[in-house]
Amino acid sequence: MSLVQLIYVSTAVEELPAPKLEAILESSVRHNREHGVTGMLLYAQGSFMQVLEGEEAAVDETYGRICQDPRHHQIILLTRDPVARREFASWSMGYKHLGDADFRQNPDIARLFGNEAGTPSPDGADASIALELLRQFANSQR
Ligand code: FAD
Repeated sequence: MSLVQLIYVSTAVEELPAPKLEAILESSVRHNREHGVTGMLLYAQGSFMQVLEGEEAAVDETYGRICQDPRHHQIILLTRDPVARREFASWSMGYKHLGDADFRQNPDIARLFGNEAGTPSPDGADASIALELLRQFANSQR
């Protein structure tokens, strides 16, 4: 039994209104609960960042399904690493919609997300920044 943690960013094919985001979240929670996957999803200005963690096979199957989803594209895998323990164990899928105040307070958000974002690269540096952002928002919801 080996645990992995995977982080990706992606771009929504259109600015998603609340009901469409809620539909994504509803099916995420339902499936993740069933497969023992935990994590956190951030959405900002048409971009997603998500961390998935759980048993390797379950995380890979879930990520494979997510990659086929026509509601987003330009999916960039930032990291997929073995981990000793879960960091987001409380959530089948935590969720936060980032607003203007979040962008103003943290320049890393603009770097990795939304209209101003360059192309995040899976070189390790962006993965660390992404993980730190996900931790911050998870802690703020505890
Ligand atoms: P349903 O949710 O009932 O959807 C049926 C099919 O229709 C799916 O193929 C779905 O892709 C497609 N679909 C549904 N609504 C729309 C729509 N409005 N427009 C176009 N196609 C649509 N799933 C997880 O299990 N865990 C996750 O953590 C997770 N995170 C996600 C993060 C993002 C950013 C996105 C975009 C999707 C995520 N999903 C996640 C959803 C995943 O991609 C699959 O859609 C879902 O797991 C399929 O669930 P389902 O078979 O119950 O189908």
